[in-house]
Amino acid sequence: MKRTYIEETLKHIGEEVRVMGWVQTYRSHGKLIFIDLRDKSGILQVVFLPNLNKPALETAKKLRPEWVVEITGLIKKREGNTENKNIETGTIEMSAEAIKVLSEAKTLPFPIDDDGYQIKEEKRLKYRYLDLRRGRMKNNLIARQKAANFIRNFLGGKGFLEIETPILTKSTPEGARDFLVPSRLQTGKFYALPQSPQQYKQLLMVAGIEKYFQFPHVFRDEDLRADRLFEHTQVDIEMSFVEQEDVLSLIEEMMIDLTEKVFNKKIQEKPFPRITYAEAMKKYKSDKPDLRKDKEGGCLAFCWVKDFPMFEVLEDGSVDAVHHPFTALADEDLKKFKKMSVEDLRGPKGRKELLGFRAKQYDLALNGVEIMGGSIRTHQKEVLKKVFETLGHAPEAVEERFGHIMEAFEYGVPPHGGIAAGFDRLLQTILNEKSIRETVAFPTATSGVASVMDAPSFVSENQLRELGIKIIKK
Ligand code: ASP
Repeated sequence: MKRTYIEETLKHIGEEVRVMGWVQTYRSHGKLIFIDLRDKSGILQVVFLPNLNKPALETAKKLRPEWVVEITGLIKKREGNTENKNIETGTIEMSAEAIKVLSEAKTLPFPIDDDGYQIKEEKRLKYRYLDLRRGRMKNNLIARQKAANFIRNFLGGKGFLEIETPILTKSTPEGARDFLVPSRLQTGKFYALPQSPQQYKQLLMVAGIEKYFQFPHVFRDEDLRADRLFEHTQVDIEMSFVEQEDVLSLIEEMMIDLTEKVFNKKIQEKPFPRITYAEAMKKYKSDKPDLRKDKEGGCLAFCWVKDFPMFEVLEDGSVDAVHHPFTALADEDLKKFKKMSVEDLRGPKGRKELLGFRAKQYDLALNGVEIMGGSIRTHQKEVLKKVFETLGHAPEAVEERFGHIMEAFEYGVPPHGGIAAGFDRLLQTILNEKSIRETVAFPTATSGVASVMDAPSFVSENQLRELGIKIIKK
């Protein structure tokens, strides 16, 4: 007999079906044994009556929570007063006829029938495959797929092409520390895991793709916190022949539909309020202001922040790009930038001008969390080169590190711009979850240890020798 999913059993009243799943709960009431059986689609009450054949009854008596079983039996309506409104199949139950144990289970290290917030993160991640049995976690994964499907269809419907870019690549200046992968064939050289597909998506614009998106995995070796992961998923978008307004209106339409149609949530203000970076810092002392009028109301307050400064000076005196070096300067500031020498730009004489330059950068904040950031890009090779030099790269180093993209810009580059969202963080905010880890199946712990697998771990001497690597004890 073919397997029936629990959610379908409602359609089989009066029929015999075969179900498979986990024993969620076990209760014996005098001569009757009841179990709640769980599969991916729901929960079904199964009753073992005393007149059942002996082997089946003996097996039923041995059952324990989380054993995996296969049961054949008759689906019938429950008596009115025994209905259970808390489960989808609460109006029916199965009267078991035969049972087979597919695998036994030890007692779980923690309960899975509650929300699980009280359990230590370390323990939940060590046994993540059990933690994911929890209804809340399963629903988060379902929500994740719903959001991804919606975004795919939305962008696909507008002519965007989903394109994957490499994981083994070259360091790109996104502002965090790189994860490096040693090369075996070219000993002493390293790949860097992408902090974002920034340069590849710009190269796709040179390639004439015009509208690109993907859900890339990106890697940043930063100190971990509740809202940060070593590796996270982005929704990454790039478009050609666009101005800032084109990007903002596309994203705003997508975010409104995602929030209202997919998640049935209320947005505090539409169109999304827009404020400049300067206003945000003055009024809210934050570049991702929380504009919620009522923080308990479950309402979502989006807000665009624009006109960021292009450059900042770090504590050690070095000049950095606020977003990244590929970001374009505001038109008026570009003129001034072009007139100044790199020496003046980097020196004390030009500091005031340098810090006053604004960029065509925009961020989307949601309830005080930065969920997206992007910019219109510099597509003039000479300007890009000067930005790198302003950031302190020697001309030869610019050639070595970024020669490929500047060369590409010599072959007909369209003006372009884009944006990227932190997909996990976006979900965390929409689902009102306590941590970004609640939206990811197997996240790294705050300590940096991988879920279940206990990575990072030592590797064999042989592997190190092949890579030409010697470990120096610190
Ligand atoms: N690559 C940028 C980031 O990851 C986003 C963008 O500029 O499109 O923040």
